[in-house]
Amino acid sequence: GRGIAVFTSGGDSQGMNAAVRACVRMAIYLGCKVYFIREGYQGMVDGGENIVEANWASVSGIIHKGGTVIGSARCMEFKERSGRLQAAKNLIKKGISNLVVIGGDGSLTGANLFRQEWSSLVEELHSKAEINGDQKLKFGHLNIVGMVGSIDNDFCGTDMTIGTDSALHRIVESVDATTSTAFSHQRVFIIEVMGRHCGYLALVSAICCEADYMFVPEEPPPDNWPELLCDKLTQARNAGQRQNTIILSEGAIDNKGNPITGDMVKKVIVDAVELDTRVTVLGHIQRGGNPSAFDRILGCRMGAEAVIALMEAKPESEPVVVSLEGNQAVMLPLMKCVEKTKGVGKAMAEKNWEEAVNLRGKS
Ligand code: ATP
Repeated sequence: GRGIAVFTSGGDSQGMNAAVRACVRMAIYLGCKVYFIREGYQGMVDGGENIVEANWASVSGIIHKGGTVIGSARCMEFKERSGRLQAAKNLIKKGISNLVVIGGDGSLTGANLFRQEWSSLVEELHSKAEINGDQKLKFGHLNIVGMVGSIDNDFCGTDMTIGTDSALHRIVESVDATTSTAFSHQRVFIIEVMGRHCGYLALVSAICCEADYMFVPEEPPPDNWPELLCDKLTQARNAGQRQNTIILSEGAIDNKGNPITGDMVKKVIVDAVELDTRVTVLGHIQRGGNPSAFDRILGCRMGAEAVIALMEAKPESEPVVVSLEGNQAVMLPLMKCVEKTKGVGKAMAEKNWEEAVNLRGKS
């Protein structure tokens, strides 16, 4: 059959390797030739050693590793038609016309555009004698299936993205670590977590770590938040609590849309209630380390489903993204989910928090 290639693009996340592994093995199981594309779209544009055939053994011993062993990158050339033409040529030369893309909404948008353009790219390659008539006929259509790898859980349509659960584990471990030292010294810890414009990581970790206060982008605090926050801390201390935890989402904003930073929150506390306060920015620690059992299983399930969806894809059918809906793997129209996700960003920019939360839905 026609070749399948799998690649990871955009920011890495834990569980991507499990997804790559499942794609490779399901493809082999179904009798397909399967390839890795290294370094995301950059490897597709550069070709050569970046597009290599995978076998059963080449994905052994990767399921427990964080990040993505086949590399990821951001690629400006792929945003230009000339880059995509080069990529199409490299794929056809290897006999590939099925792609599994693991990435964020940018990567999925790029894949969709590539698919839409594909027949005209093939036409151009043929007219320039880069490919022959046989190749033109055989590779006239590109199938794509997407999976979302992101710790932020900011994609509309899936309950969980690959990497979110591992990031939560890392956050919870880290907050627990600060809690013990905070207890010894009667300190306040402000922990900044990732998530971009999505407060999911902050919300869930705040619940899991018994935080006293939390800032998320979707619900800017009232203007008198400094007073409310200090009251809460004082109340907790009066009740005998020796430490306080505040979870701050990196995208947290006030009512006017201005960022709320760890140092701002610290200043409020130090000035008003004079508690010893420390700011800890967790940063890339959250994206590192071994994937959780949940992310390994999620990657396995989604990877296997992605290959099955590719095998069932018809030229006229819409491209899909593999999603998790109430613990079931389902296929949803890729571009509808991408547009909804972009709609959240737009609603947030317009300070329409309610619309943003509604668009995001259950997840
Ligand atoms: P993350 O959520 O981690 O940022 P992402 O997939 O959204 O992941 P981007 O940097 O937006 O990350 O996209 C990754 C790559 O996908 C880009 O470097 C580019 O090569 C390609 N890409 C993104 N958007 C487009 C587009 N509109 N057209 C063509 N290619 C695109």
